[in-house]
Amino acid sequence: MHLADHWLNIAYLIAASLFVFGIKGLTKPRTAVRGNQMAASGMLIACVVTLFHRDIVGYEVIIAGLVIGGLIGAIMAIRVQMTSMPQMIALLNGFGGGASFAVATAGYLGGLSGAVALISTGAAVLIGAVTLTGSMVAFAKLQELISGKSIGFAGMKFVNALLLLGSLCAIGYLVVEPGNQMVFWALVVAAALLGLMLVLPIGGADMPVVIALLNSYSGVAASAAGFVTGNSALIITGSLVGASGLILTQIMCKAMNRSLTNVLFGVMAEAGSSMSDDEVYQGKVKSSSADEVAMILETAQRVVIVPGFGMAMAQAQHAVRELADTLEKRGTEVEYAIHPVAGRMPGHMNVLLAEAEVSYDKLKDMDTINPTFEQTDVAIVIGANDVTNPLAREDKGSPIYGMPILNVDKARTVVVVKRSLSSGFAGLPNPLFAKDNTLMLFGDGKQAIIDISTALKEA
Ligand code: NDP
Repeated sequence: MHLADHWLNIAYLIAASLFVFGIKGLTKPRTAVRGNQMAASGMLIACVVTLFHRDIVGYEVIIAGLVIGGLIGAIMAIRVQMTSMPQMIALLNGFGGGASFAVATAGYLGGLSGAVALISTGAAVLIGAVTLTGSMVAFAKLQELISGKSIGFAGMKFVNALLLLGSLCAIGYLVVEPGNQMVFWALVVAAALLGLMLVLPIGGADMPVVIALLNSYSGVAASAAGFVTGNSALIITGSLVGASGLILTQIMCKAMNRSLTNVLFGVMAEAGSSMSDDEVYQGKVKSSSADEVAMILETAQRVVIVPGFGMAMAQAQHAVRELADTLEKRGTEVEYAIHPVAGRMPGHMNVLLAEAEVSYDKLKDMDTINPTFEQTDVAIVIGANDVTNPLAREDKGSPIYGMPILNVDKARTVVVVKRSLSSGFAGLPNPLFAKDNTLMLFGDGKQAIIDISTALKEA
């Protein structure tokens, strides 16, 4: 059975509206679940009606693809650790780019003609292949299959410029001479190499920005594939992903105080270039105990909890909420300070705290919470490091200088819960741990917080 084109387009229009309203819903925690459901139903409509498209001649391959792909996806999603989400997202972006690349290649080999179709094919092949290989490098770096540091050679930017120029010339040539398959495959190779070479020189701490950017690329590639197949739903969805990925990239760049050009083309200063651990910590670090922390909390009127990657590692979010409940029952005001790049993916802390049923209005973003630290009795930093590092404010030689941070050191007392004095993602010592008003509570995040709660209840 095939749907008439006008019914197909109406269904696509409904799907596209659901995507837009879905994204709108996602901008607020309260409407996020509904937003997600709306966008998902939009996708369901788009997929179902596409299966009635007149170009579909048989369903066997589609069903096989659905079953195999769905199974692999479900297994990956069930097995993935929360801490490995960035790698998973990198992989999915790559597959998205790869799918657009495959669609465009199939279109080309099937004998497409016309300037618009050929330019779109070229764009989908170029951006799709860059996204595919670039994302694989991002995955390998985050999974530590290859070094997370910048990998490159002198003149790499020049080679990249040549590859890009060559790819654009190949697309131009294919528009005039579509039958030349050698040029098409040369374009594929150049684009794949370009993806590798663009991401290899990018250092670890900039990886999240690159992943957001690759996500945007995968959208643009899908949009181009939409032009190749004449599918308006794909064009719209791709544009939405392209635009939202770019906005997210910009937000993350701002949170890390890096310009996009700097992330992509500048090599980040090697970690640890400014101060050594000994210089920062020797003789200045005060270790504390759960009992002592509980005693300080007993008299606190306002407590701010600052979660970071270590809270995710320790899966301490439920324990953290229980501690907050205990404090609130005693009449203490508790809020959470959320840094935009705390953890390993945007929104990481929000997701974990939502899972522990912490009320959304207690989660305060950096700009809202920073002016309140001076009126805060105790800031409990749980597994956060870089996002609280005063070097970002004070040390011009530091690689993270200029990154906006949570000014926890302004609180009367700071309790830092982590296992050791090890550095965070950026590989830097943190002078916060050596400040006069800081107490270190060494231990696994979850156990340490449970111990504080127990001591507080017994008090
Ligand atoms: P950091 O990576 O700076 O520090 C995390 C700290 O958690 C470590 O110092 C570690 O110390 C501690 N930790 C690890 N496991 C445990 C545990 N089981 N219990 C208690 N503590 C633990 O985290 P932040 O959240 O402060 O900063 C995020 C960093 O990641 C930033 O540099 C950011 O740029 C980067 N990034 C952010 C992404 C995002 O989008 N959010 C994505 C990718 C990177 P110890 O070993 O001593 O316990």
